[in-house]
Amino acid sequence: MKILVLNCGSSSLKYQLFNMDDESVMAKGLVEKIGLGDSELTHQPQGKDKIKISADIPNHGVAIEMVVAALLDKEHGVISDMREIDAVGHRIVHGAQMFSASCIIDDKALADLETVSELAPLHNPPSILGIRACCEKIPGVPMVGVFDTAFHQTMPAANYLYGLPYEYYEKYKIRRYGFHGTSHRFVSARCAELLGRNDAKIITCHLGNGSSLSAVDHGKVVDTSMGFTPLAGVLMGTRSGDIDPAIVTYVMEKEGLDTAAMNAVLNKKSGLLGISGVSSDMRYVEEAADQGNERAKIALEVFRKTVVSFIGAYAAEMNGVDAIVFTAGIGENSALERAAICANLTYLGVDFDAAANDCRGKEVEISKPDSKVRVFVIPTNEELMIARDTKALAESVK
Ligand code: AMP
Repeated sequence: MKILVLNCGSSSLKYQLFNMDDESVMAKGLVEKIGLGDSELTHQPQGKDKIKISADIPNHGVAIEMVVAALLDKEHGVISDMREIDAVGHRIVHGAQMFSASCIIDDKALADLETVSELAPLHNPPSILGIRACCEKIPGVPMVGVFDTAFHQTMPAANYLYGLPYEYYEKYKIRRYGFHGTSHRFVSARCAELLGRNDAKIITCHLGNGSSLSAVDHGKVVDTSMGFTPLAGVLMGTRSGDIDPAIVTYVMEKEGLDTAAMNAVLNKKSGLLGISGVSSDMRYVEEAADQGNERAKIALEVFRKTVVSFIGAYAAEMNGVDAIVFTAGIGENSALERAAICANLTYLGVDFDAAANDCRGKEVEISKPDSKVRVFVIPTNEELMIARDTKALAESVK
């Protein structure tokens, strides 16, 4: 079975074609600057040279046509007939309370999805465009939606309700949703496999440009650090994470900012970048700190402190923890951040293995064999998770 996985942004489209017989990637690529002029398709077939095609790509429909053409291309393609694509899996950022699991996107689901767009105005509309374009260009193939929020839908009300008037939850659906769910699900499932048990208490740390932590007990999320939007939680590349909410109106008044400008401050000018003034990229902040830059050092300390605090909070909430997982760009690659974070976890029973930690981008246990709490680095693979869900759902409707 061959599954096409799509991740549509407002002006971009990422794709991977999986052969689910062995879960291998047959081809992957990216369409950039859709509708902006100067568009480009980068196509990487497995085992062949990467190609770049510049073209006028006015909308997602044309982008999908180009992706299919690249997959079918005599020289650079990996399939010979479009009918070889058995199903398409779409990454969708927000599923609200309506979508608590991946599902087949039929007309009813698409109509429901439209109603969720106001909760994720930047992210959901491009996914809907992608789904509609696929229905037109790859007709008769099951479409599956896989939601970043779905895995977190098991949270109890005590962990998803904010201390706000209840009517805002009823009227505006204001609650904690959580994001990166596909990644938290992938790495927590793999961790359970490595532990050889499904009843473990696991804290998953997805630390990348955007970062979030989840507390997973018996395979179900009980709490997560992102909230109503992906702005909440730990300090991120350019996002503030949790702050005193009163700061928002105070700064707006002082700086004369409107809501759009304040949103930009919190989402694009804060975090590692905001504190360090160096970069949003962890590598550059670590480098600057190493060279003695004081603000870069503080930015790292704030990042580590927020991660350590959530780990402590989640261990308390679950009344224990069996394993901690690091994943995503920083979690998989920065031995320095993992070591600094784990240095504050000895009280939990983490016996850190510095030698094992000295690695990048591969699955490894970084706690010593007798450690009470086991610590793993597990590379995430959201696309594969989407492909697996899509395969299972497509088979169920055959
Ligand atoms: P992601 O959003 O998952 O792609 O992660 C991006 C983040 O991972 C950026 O902050 C990168 O600086 C960080 N990252 C990638 N490689 C390394 C590395 N070797 N050391 C430290 N941070 C890294």
